[in-house]
Amino acid sequence: MASSQSYEVTVVGGGLGGLTAALAMRQRGIKVTVLEQAPQLGEVGAGIQTAPNASRVLFGLGLRKQMEAIHTEPLDQVRRRWQDGSIIALTPLGERCKREQDAPYWHYHRADLHRVIMDACTDPEGSGPVVNLRTNQQVTDLDRSNPQRPVAIAADGTRYEADALIGADGVRSQVRDLMGCEDTLIFSGDMAFRALIPGDLIAADPSTRWLVDRFQSTIWFGPDRHLVHYMIRGGEFLNIVACVPCTDEVAEKWSAPSSPDELAAAFPGWDDRVPAMLSKAKDDVSCFALYHRRRDPVWMDGHVALLGDASHAMLPYQAQGASQAMEDAAVLAEELGQVTSENIPEALRRYVNRRAKHAGMVQAASHQNQTFYHYPDGPEQRARDAQLKQFDGESDV
Ligand code: FAD
Repeated sequence: MASSQSYEVTVVGGGLGGLTAALAMRQRGIKVTVLEQAPQLGEVGAGIQTAPNASRVLFGLGLRKQMEAIHTEPLDQVRRRWQDGSIIALTPLGERCKREQDAPYWHYHRADLHRVIMDACTDPEGSGPVVNLRTNQQVTDLDRSNPQRPVAIAADGTRYEADALIGADGVRSQVRDLMGCEDTLIFSGDMAFRALIPGDLIAADPSTRWLVDRFQSTIWFGPDRHLVHYMIRGGEFLNIVACVPCTDEVAEKWSAPSSPDELAAAFPGWDDRVPAMLSKAKDDVSCFALYHRRRDPVWMDGHVALLGDASHAMLPYQAQGASQAMEDAAVLAEELGQVTSENIPEALRRYVNRRAKHAGMVQAASHQNQTFYHYPDGPEQRARDAQLKQFDGESDV
């Protein structure tokens, strides 16, 4: 790994994508400053799944031991039918996934995963210069009068000049707008309820006990909606993501507090196991309107580039948004790690060339899943279920 860069990069946004990029660049010897608008670096109180592609990136950054300490491993991925909970398909994960994909499929609390990456950014024993993390720094403007030294300008007027600037500022990226990129944001028409249900409540009730007896990544398909759930922190919480048609209020506000009653009411007539589970939600239920971006390969201009949701926001219908951001981070650092500051635009161009097509395919597939997951009962739903059946396999763990 090259580790002798003498230049500096500013990353706007300290989410999972921005921090992974900061860590990967640090390990290539690049001096990195991360500007985060929030008063504290952290993540929302929710779960996250990382498929082998993301696990591989994070292991490559030396985080395997830390991830082993915070992960929960699902033994299978199960797809169920809304009305009676019958299993449409069961795909083994667990050991089999590690054996065949050479990396695991794991679940985490988002805050735990974020903390692991952040700690590695600032670990004085780590390789490369420690990442400079600045909170309360909302970037509101860019000064590109010297194209070789872009300046990020925070709301309080502080200027951050560097050799390159990476916009990792999420689905509503300000950097993207300031670069003059086309407006590609699309409202999906759906929203996601998110909730964490205490695992002890689940374990104590015979009607929900099955959820702790075998850890699985489960998705229920029903007409115009679907429900995802899995355990995190070794069973401390059941993470719920429930995707349903969006209300006008949430569409307008992007996100809104919700309630266990609203969550349970969103699945009328579903198999008894669904209300039994959802009725255990506590008061921290919230709703997020789901936006994504049209495929757009324009992610860089000179010494400025985009990463993660800022470049390819996608629906969470493949659980790949953060994972794709992590793949971006690894490739970005690899390319920047090989050049001197004069050649940054070429490195950024190579980064985009290596990433845009693949991320765009994942974006498109996630969008197609909106239709695929939500068929009303009928011929298309039956054809889908038959297609999924081919992923069936016997679990060996
Ligand atoms: P973000 O996480 O949005 O981070 C952007 C950061 O930039 C934030 O900290 C923000 O405060 C900061 N910021 C924004 N503007 C500014 C500014 N102007 N100045 C300074 N800072 C700024 N992906 C998976 O891989 N697996 C999953 O299981 C999964 N589940 C999901 C479930 C749901 C319900 C949803 C909605 C998404 C899910 N995703 C999942 C997608 C994933 O959450 C995102 O793709 C990922 O968080 C994007 O990371 P990011 O760093 O690009 O952006």
